Amino acid sequence: MEPIEVLEKYFGYTAFRPGQEQLIEAILSGRDAFGVMPTGGGKSICYQVPAMLLPGLTLVISPLISLMKDQVSSLREVNIPAAYINSTLSPEDYRGALRDIEDGVYKIVYVAPERLESESFLSRLRRYPIRQVTVDEAHCISQWGQDFRPSYLKIAELIRSLPERPVVSAFTATATDRVREDVVRLLQLHEPLLLVTGFDRPNLRYDVVRSRRKDDALISFLKEHAGQSGIVYCATRAKTESVCAALCAEGFSATRYHAGLSDEERHANQEDFIFDRRTVMVATNAFGMGIDKSNVRFVVHYNMPKSIEEYYQEAGRAGRDGEHADCLLLFSEGDIMTAKYLIENGASSESENRAERIAQELRRMNITAGYCKTTRCFRGYILDYFGEKHPERCGNCGNCLGAFEEVDITIPAQMILSCVRRVQNRLGYTVGASLLIKTLRGSSDKRVRELGLDKLSTCGLMRGEPAERVKRYIEHLEAAGYLKTDPRHGGILLTEAAGDVLFRGTVVKMQVKRDPRGTRASGAGQPLGSAAAPVTQDQGLFDALRGLRRELSEREGVPAYIVFSDAALRDMVRRRPRNMHELLMVSGVGKFKAEKYGNVFLKRISAYEVEAGAS
Ligand code: ADP
Ligand code: MG
Ligand code: ZN
Repeated sequence: MEPIEVLEKYFGYTAFRPGQEQLIEAILSGRDAFGVMPTGGGKSICYQVPAMLLPGLTLVISPLISLMKDQVSSLREVNIPAAYINSTLSPEDYRGALRDIEDGVYKIVYVAPERLESESFLSRLRRYPIRQVTVDEAHCISQWGQDFRPSYLKIAELIRSLPERPVVSAFTATATDRVREDVVRLLQLHEPLLLVTGFDRPNLRYDVVRSRRKDDALISFLKEHAGQSGIVYCATRAKTESVCAALCAEGFSATRYHAGLSDEERHANQEDFIFDRRTVMVATNAFGMGIDKSNVRFVVHYNMPKSIEEYYQEAGRAGRDGEHADCLLLFSEGDIMTAKYLIENGASSESENRAERIAQELRRMNITAGYCKTTRCFRGYILDYFGEKHPERCGNCGNCLGAFEEVDITIPAQMILSCVRRVQNRLGYTVGASLLIKTLRGSSDKRVRELGLDKLSTCGLMRGEPAERVKRYIEHLEAAGYLKTDPRHGGILLTEAAGDVLFRGTVVKMQVKRDPRGTRASGAGQPLGSAAAPVTQDQGLFDALRGLRRELSEREGVPAYIVFSDAALRDMVRRRPRNMHELLMVSGVGKFKAEKYGNVFLKRISAYEVEAGAS
């Protein structure tokens, strides 16, 4: 069989994704391979297809015990003989699995890295005909990565000790140059094919909503995504609790996950989410590492994350199946204060380069705040950060889709600039943005009076304007080069160019997100909500098939997305197959699954059509 035939027969896909074929060809030719592909890029296929074509066994080292069961279930669902070995097995199951491996029952066996610490286990492995060793989440081998696992260092030893050196393949979604070098060196890869695909995830729609009433914004977003599965990330345990409670009170099917819960509750809640018994998971960043649930349709960040890396990783848990998914960040100025607090109080105090680390984290946070405020393409902003080329506008993010309009802000700009000038003339030094805003809005603040700023003719010029908006004007004037911040004490001063606006009639314009409710447009960045998701051709049929999938998932004891992915259901709705032959053309329906589930799905589709025709 050819690789493409294996892809069709077992997985039901008709074409390889970028990079998959090259990696598979390399592995089959006996060359080591190292694939760096984004989450949802389809790394599993890259070692599973060769596993079916190579003689003997493929051994997969994977760090996530909680996930192995699902990985093995989804292989068994497509009739690939697979097993896993980790500490959750009972002694009988463990011995049974080893016996079956010996008898050559399996093509793919997952093991936890910690197993490699056991000499008796290693000596057993030497007896098996291992033809491929695959290292999933390969970045775990590097101390420079986020999730270092010391046991990963044992892998090279295992490979060396096997009677015949197998081909070695390694995969990860996150690898800086340093981590990449570590992977090649510490796994002792032999002239590997290094394949790095683009990091963009075109099916993810990024958006930011600025709101101080986040619960309202979240609830209206969730109402638009009723019945869909998604994650809401919160910065703290306390927030996680309160948001989850608020959602449950509103009637959403939500559950929660954070490090303060007992192991049992965490496990139960995670299962509820994976099996679609609860649709919304409210969690801290303790949740999600290695969650392979492919039908996560949205990831909402209730608070600004600490870095773009963290954001990209967490948001990236949406839409693994390649179908449309939303990544929404709820932002308010208060998030910056919270993040600062967490950074300054979070770093361990005994660490010698503490100050340096804090400074670095603050820099990262500022870049993230920049993301929240940008009027440019959100995807472009992220890809710039990772140093990847991209078009100016992606056409699938809040900023590209949200209609922007240019407003003339010359008058408020003049008010602000002249106020800066007068403050400086009066005091002989500059003040920071917040005092400036208070002065402009004529607030009866103690400091304003003490410094005599209430005597200035510019005091109270912007009385009716919300502080947020004045702040955004100031930020814009700084970005446009009319103001600058003194890096030493945060005072705001005029640049030379400011004179053009104050005295020479230069017009100042600012991009403002149009308010979808058609009220005043000058409140930059009003909630746009997520622009409507692409209309599905037939939501009714999709829901019917989703219901059927859930019944089958309960019966089989596997998560719904393992029965069929959302992508497969969508394709079924599009094609409306009438017979087995047509059903096999659906993406994600392979031979075995068609035999197992085909008839019930065909029946449900035709029943739906009869009903729809009758009404
Ligand atoms: P990764 O490990 O890279 O995050 P997975 O291997 O879990 O990603 O694959 C993500 C999803 O993409 C799965 O639902 C998988 O079935 C699907 N997929 C993988 N390869 C293809 C392909 N060639 N065509 C269509 N879907 C694919
Ligand atoms: Mg994976
Ligand atoms: Zn865009």
